[in-house]
Amino acid sequence: MQPISSAIEMTALSQQVHRTGKRIGFVPTMGALHQGHLSLVRAARAQSDVVVVSIFVNPKQFGPTEDFAKYPRSLEADSAMLAAEGIDYLFYPAVEEMYPKDAATWVTVEGLSEKLDGQSRPGHFRGVTTVVAKLFNLVQPDFAFFGQKDAAQVAIVSKMVRDLNFPVQIVVCPIVREADGLAMSSRNAYLSPEQRKQATVLSRSLMRIQALANQGEKNSTKLIAAAKQVIAEEPSVKLDYFEIISAITLDPVPDISGGALVAVAAYVGTTRLIDNLLLP
Ligand code: AMP
Repeated sequence: MQPISSAIEMTALSQQVHRTGKRIGFVPTMGALHQGHLSLVRAARAQSDVVVVSIFVNPKQFGPTEDFAKYPRSLEADSAMLAAEGIDYLFYPAVEEMYPKDAATWVTVEGLSEKLDGQSRPGHFRGVTTVVAKLFNLVQPDFAFFGQKDAAQVAIVSKMVRDLNFPVQIVVCPIVREADGLAMSSRNAYLSPEQRKQATVLSRSLMRIQALANQGEKNSTKLIAAAKQVIAEEPSVKLDYFEIISAITLDPVPDISGGALVAVAAYVGTTRLIDNLLLP
């Protein structure tokens, strides 16, 4: 595994890989790696000749009152994990390398960026699309791997790729969970032992929806009401949103007959967690 911190060097290496006819699989991350990230890396390994993983805690996707400064950073442990997975390049640019002081250009997917997490995190998704566009330009991947865990991000990045003709195929990988159902997340590290238990209410609310859907309930309003009852069982967990929507437009759907994305976000203490369930 070759570590690279220079943007120019990253692009030169990618161009060299392409000249040999090999295909690049790319996994963008913010580090503090867990099994969720590694599932993406393994999918990339299985489907590509050369695997590039980036670790970059992107300041532009954090709001002024959010956790950019305290976001967990563990480059040494992350590098060891990625080396053990047999990746080819670890791209870990500094903030100044990605954003020169005079940088003034944003990539915004209008409409979608204001939905779901975009409502409570204004500006978050334009930070995501701007950095992903830049990383795609620098790494020039054939395939880019994203987790279903961040369902809105998947919809928004997919739309950006279509709208701007990025020559990359987006591959979406399933959510990896802890044994008790909690979706793995770097932010789970913020939770106290008690909050860690309370946090399972998110996946429990989704399991309730799955059970009702299996019994034939299709009405979104009824499903959401049942899920909110589950969330209410943990009074210290504060719901941000619970929505049943189209996975592509992120607009609410009145029933789940045509398939739907069930998405939840909630605060456990000050930690904001998200989870979702894709109904076929
Ligand atoms: P992050 O480091 O949080 O920006 O995540 C990097 C990538 O890993 C994103 O595409 C996430 O959706 C994905 N990811 C994070 N957690 C999980 C998980 N529990 N299961 C699957 N993918 C995940």
